[in-house]
Amino acid sequence: MKSAIRVRFAPSPTGPLHMGGVRTALYNYLFAKKNNGTFILRIEDTDQSRLVTEAEKYIIDALKWCGIEPEEGVGFGDGEFGSYKQSERTALYRKYADTLIESGNAYYAFDSAEELDAKRSDAEKEGERFQYDESTRMSMKNSLSLDKEEVDRHIENGNFVIRFKMPANEEIVFDDVVRDNVIYKSSDLDDKILLKADGFPTYHLANVVDDHHMKISHVIRGEEWLPSTPLHVVLYKAFGWDQPIFAHLPLILKPGGKGKLSKRDGAKHGFPVFPLDWKDPDSAEISPGYKEAGFIPEAFLNILALLGWHSSEDKEVFTLEELVKEFELERVVKSGARFDFEKAKWLNQQHLMSTEDSLLAAELRNLLLEEQKDYNLEYCEKVVSMMKERVFFLKEIPSEASYLFGDIESYDEKMVRKKFKAENEALYHEFIEDINTLENFNAGSIEAAVKSFIERKEIGFGAILPIIRLCVSGTVQGPSVFDIMELLGKSEVISRMSKGIEYFSENLVN
Ligand code: GLU
Repeated sequence: MKSAIRVRFAPSPTGPLHMGGVRTALYNYLFAKKNNGTFILRIEDTDQSRLVTEAEKYIIDALKWCGIEPEEGVGFGDGEFGSYKQSERTALYRKYADTLIESGNAYYAFDSAEELDAKRSDAEKEGERFQYDESTRMSMKNSLSLDKEEVDRHIENGNFVIRFKMPANEEIVFDDVVRDNVIYKSSDLDDKILLKADGFPTYHLANVVDDHHMKISHVIRGEEWLPSTPLHVVLYKAFGWDQPIFAHLPLILKPGGKGKLSKRDGAKHGFPVFPLDWKDPDSAEISPGYKEAGFIPEAFLNILALLGWHSSEDKEVFTLEELVKEFELERVVKSGARFDFEKAKWLNQQHLMSTEDSLLAAELRNLLLEEQKDYNLEYCEKVVSMMKERVFFLKEIPSEASYLFGDIESYDEKMVRKKFKAENEALYHEFIEDINTLENFNAGSIEAAVKSFIERKEIGFGAILPIIRLCVSGTVQGPSVFDIMELLGKSEVISRMSKGIEYFSENLVN
C-alpha cells in the first residue's frame, strides 16, 4: 500500500528543463520511491506570457528518458487529483482567492501599472524602495482604501488584481529539512498579487492551493524558492490548512565554484546543461542535451544525485535502484554543489563498464548502421567488451576503433618511422608466415605464437609487437593487440600485415 508521502515536481513550461530542474525531479522521485510514496508531475503554466508550447512535451520526454516517471500527472495519467495542469484549474484558484477576501486576508487592488511605476520612481528619488505593504497600502487604490461604491465600480469593470494582506510585524518561522529553522519578518514582505488582472493566479496562490488539494506532504524544490516560502506559510495559515514539510535544495554551481550554473556556462565550457537537445522555437538554435552527448540515463541521474547529496559511505557510483535505497533527504547539504564535467564523463564510463555487453552491442550495431556499416551482434559484443573501458561514451567506439569497422584510415607515421626497421623486413615476413600456419586463430594462440617467435629469434617484444599493432590498427594505442587480431580474423590480419610492411618500407623508412 502507498504511504501518505506525496511529492511533486512542478516545473513551469517556460523553456527546456535545466539539469537543476531534473535534479529536483530526481530527488522528489527518490524520496517518493524510498518511502513508498507517490511522485507527481504538475505543470505550472499560469504565467501565460512566458509559455513556450514545446516545453511541456520536452519536460515529459526528459523524465521518460531519465527513467524517473511520475505516477500521476500531465503526460503520465491522471490520478485522483487532476487536472495536473494549472491552466485547467483556474476556477479553483479564483474560488480560493475569494475566500481570502471574505476572511480579510486579501483585498482587491486597482492601481494601474503607471501609478505603480510612479510610486516606485518617487521612492527611488528619496533613495528608498517602494513596497506595497502595511505601510503604503492605505495610500494606494484598493478595496481597503476606497469607498464601497468606487470599489464596486472597479470590480464590475473587471480591472483588478487580488493582493494578499501580509500581516504586520510577525515572525514567520518554518522548518526546512535542509536548512533547519528558517525565520523571516513579515514586515520585510510585500502584499503579493495572488490573482492577476487576466484572471490567472500567480505562482504563489496556485502552488499553495494545489499542494493542499493534491495532498502534497513534502515540498522539495530549488533554493531559489526559499524567499517565496514565508508567503506560502502565511497563506496556509490564512486558509487554515496544514503546511507541508519543506526541503530547499542547494544551488548547482559553475565549474569554477562561483555562481549558479547557467546555460552560458555550458556553451563556454562545451558541456550540456539540458537533458535532451533543445531546439529554440524562435531562433532554431540547438542547445545540446546529455542524451545526444552520449550519456547513459542512469549515469546522468548519478551525476545529478551527487550534486547536493552524498551517501553515508564514500560511494560515488550508483544505479537508480541503489539511489532509491540510499537516498535520504537529511543528507542533502546546504552549500552549493560545484558541477564538474570531467567527473560526469568518468561516471558515464563507470556505468558503461557495468552495463551488459549484449545491451551495448545492440546500441553499437545501430550506431554503425547509421554509418551504413553492418556488423552482427556477436562481433559488436566482442568490440564492446574490448573497448568499453577505453572510452567515456559508447558512441566514441566507431571512431576510436575505426580499424575494426573497415580499412585503416591512417597510420601513426611518427611511430612507424620510430619502430619500423628496414633491416628487419625479412623477420616481419617470417612472422607473417608463422601466424599463417596457426590453426586456431584466437588471442591465446596468437600470443603464444608471438612469444615463441621472439624466443626463437632472440629478439625483444619491442622489435615486433609495435609493428604488428601498427599494421593491424594503424596505431600503437588501443586494446590488446591479440584480441584485435582474433576479432579481425586470420586472413584480414595477414593481408593487413603484408600491406603495412610494404607501405612502411616504401614510404616511411627514415
Ligand atoms: N513552478 C515552479 C518552478 O518552475 C515550482 C516551484 C515549486 O516547486 O514550488 O520551479
